[in-house]
Amino acid sequence: MFPKESIAMLQYPQLEQALKYHFGYDKFRPGQRQIIEDALQNRDLLIIMPTGGGKSLCFQLPALLKPGLTVVVSPLIALMQDQVEALRNNNISATFLNSSLNAYKVRSREEAILNGKVKLLYVAPERLLSERFLPLLDLVKEKIGISTFAIDEAHCVSEWGHDFRPEYRQMKSLRKRYPDVPTVALTATATDRVRADIIQQLGLKQPSIHIASFNRQNLYYEVRNKTKNAYAELLEIIRENEGSGIIYCLTRKKVDELTFKLQNHKISALPYHAGLSDDERSKNQTRFIRDDVRVMVATIAFGMGINKPDVRFVVHYDLPRNLESYYQESGRAGRDSEPSRCTLFFSFSDIKTIEWSINQKTDPQEQLISKQQLRQVIDYAEGTDCRRTIQLGYFGERFPGNCGNCDNCRYPKPMEDWTIEAMKFLSCVARCKERFGMLHIIDVLRGAKNQKITINKHDQLSTYGIGKDKTVDEWRMLGRSLLHQGLLEQTADGYSVLKLNALSWEVMRKQRPVTLAVPVAQKVTWEEGSEKAAEVEVLMQRLRSLRKQLADAQSVPPYVIFADSTLKLMAQAQPQTLIEFGKLSGVGSHKLAQYGEKFLKEIQAYRQEQGLPIVPLGNYTPSLNFPTDTELTTFQLYQQGLSIEDIAQKRNIRPTTIIRHLADLIEKNQPVDLSQLIPLERQQKIWQVLEVLGDIALTPIRDQLGESYTFDEIRLVRGKWRRETRKSK
Ligand code: ADP
Ligand code: ZN
Repeated sequence: MFPKESIAMLQYPQLEQALKYHFGYDKFRPGQRQIIEDALQNRDLLIIMPTGGGKSLCFQLPALLKPGLTVVVSPLIALMQDQVEALRNNNISATFLNSSLNAYKVRSREEAILNGKVKLLYVAPERLLSERFLPLLDLVKEKIGISTFAIDEAHCVSEWGHDFRPEYRQMKSLRKRYPDVPTVALTATATDRVRADIIQQLGLKQPSIHIASFNRQNLYYEVRNKTKNAYAELLEIIRENEGSGIIYCLTRKKVDELTFKLQNHKISALPYHAGLSDDERSKNQTRFIRDDVRVMVATIAFGMGINKPDVRFVVHYDLPRNLESYYQESGRAGRDSEPSRCTLFFSFSDIKTIEWSINQKTDPQEQLISKQQLRQVIDYAEGTDCRRTIQLGYFGERFPGNCGNCDNCRYPKPMEDWTIEAMKFLSCVARCKERFGMLHIIDVLRGAKNQKITINKHDQLSTYGIGKDKTVDEWRMLGRSLLHQGLLEQTADGYSVLKLNALSWEVMRKQRPVTLAVPVAQKVTWEEGSEKAAEVEVLMQRLRSLRKQLADAQSVPPYVIFADSTLKLMAQAQPQTLIEFGKLSGVGSHKLAQYGEKFLKEIQAYRQEQGLPIVPLGNYTPSLNFPTDTELTTFQLYQQGLSIEDIAQKRNIRPTTIIRHLADLIEKNQPVDLSQLIPLERQQKIWQVLEVLGDIALTPIRDQLGESYTFDEIRLVRGKWRRETRKSK
């Protein structure tokens, strides 16, 4: 129990206030406010935001502020459940209908919808257009109204997207059936073609289009050479990061091997790939989402439809297929905007493997595209520019560089003069008659003894053994760089034979210097630790286990209770009263009431152990001064200029109830203009009586004022009077 204080109403503009009340956040993310304003104007919308940009809120908050039901179309059952659970934990009435429910459950949910008890309904596209569902929608429309159709993962409508679903195509008929219901389409897919397709296929009408930047500032991007130490480095990454992580491998076999290895090193890890049974896959996935297991080792089959917001690191242990998939896969880290890390391990043998599989393709067009894509991945991995500049450039977004949050910006590789080495390398290619690949050239340079060398008599060349002073990796780095800089060529016939060009000869004639960005041994100084940080970490650990306990009791993922960022704020600020607690970002009205006390106790116990001062816990139940849903509905209509009678009629409730709503809205500091409702001098009269008699029942007040005053008028003025008296206290 907590000190008797009142939570002063925060003087936010209205939308921010609603954001804090329902979701606990203080600020909108970039773009969200504008989108929500457009949504409140009932406009069609196309929202393109990267993963973690905060798309859901763009239809969830308007759903709460607008009258009627918002229907959300979402392709994945797991995703639906997650979102509904998260909403319910904020006391928002959301539900879903999909094939996982039995008939009885479906019926009772439908009933709740028709009774206006639900603000957000999630459905799968195939159900939406079924014969049973459309009549229900008709009824909803008639009885309580449909406020919006929100189409999540809208790229599924497009054959050009990466996840085309034919059911999405029928969505257009929805538009025909309910032409006046606004449609909001959301996706993280960036290409122009998909965008245009979404607008066309969903029949969006002059949509307001919002394209957020694809720059994910909280992600640290790095590329490491996959040397013999790669596994040790991987272990270090896992041990150094607190939270969950995903490690992507190219094949099932590699996934299984790596999982086994990690488990042997006492890392809590599970595999995920298409070779496992459905049951096992979904079990592993759930354990990951619930934080029962920390690391998911997976093929790219894993990730679609996972919106675990607190993934702290994504490692590509093998090379990704193309830059777009790399962006999307690595982007599963840090959806909650907390610092997270994306590591790509890059090896020449991976390139070989991928090149080999590209050469197996029979369609020459497909082959060409895959080769281009591989080229882009290599350019990214070998590039010395800001990683963001390269990635965003790929999406057509210009980024000035110097992000300060990628390896190239933080630890710029020193440029060294390698002209002599380049001359040795290229002349060795020439001596071998431009008929061999990189590995053989390096063997010759390093004076290796093997059959290929003896058969070709390459041990008799003048370049044999002149490069013993450099390691295989160093020579390889040079060779790659020469290719990269266009100072050397490589055949694309599957054999990768090295060929010289005009520039190679310039180098050999010493007419062109060669510089190389050499990697520095990467000492991982990713997150600077301090004593304070360590303390915070200890408390974080306690708060985490409390969160896990609460989550398990409700069978929900821990992030549904509080996000990592909110736990961190708790550990840093160590609030001691509910008021302080309620101010943290991520604590909304419901979570404050639900969990505030439990977390405060944990913080207090920690402080007591540490010998830190504590505020004794008193006796206090919080009540945030915020309009209820029904009041907000009235307020919306009132803002649209409807008279009290019209609102009453439209909502099918008595005018007195509407007055009651308005009076409470005034008391709760909402912008209802009293002077439009009651002439000023009548207001003053009522005010005077209130000042004398105080906050008592309405009848004695009316007796004092006389018959010509109505209860409605008194009620309205009393709302304002209460607000002002409370303020002055
Ligand atoms: P998307 O669907 O775009 O990938 P989500 O809607 O799942 O992203 O949001 C990602 C995370 O960001 C969620 O944990 C969500 O609660 C959080 N979030 C959204 N809007 C805000 C905000 N204004 N302030 C803080 N966190 C937010
Ligand atoms: Zn950078």
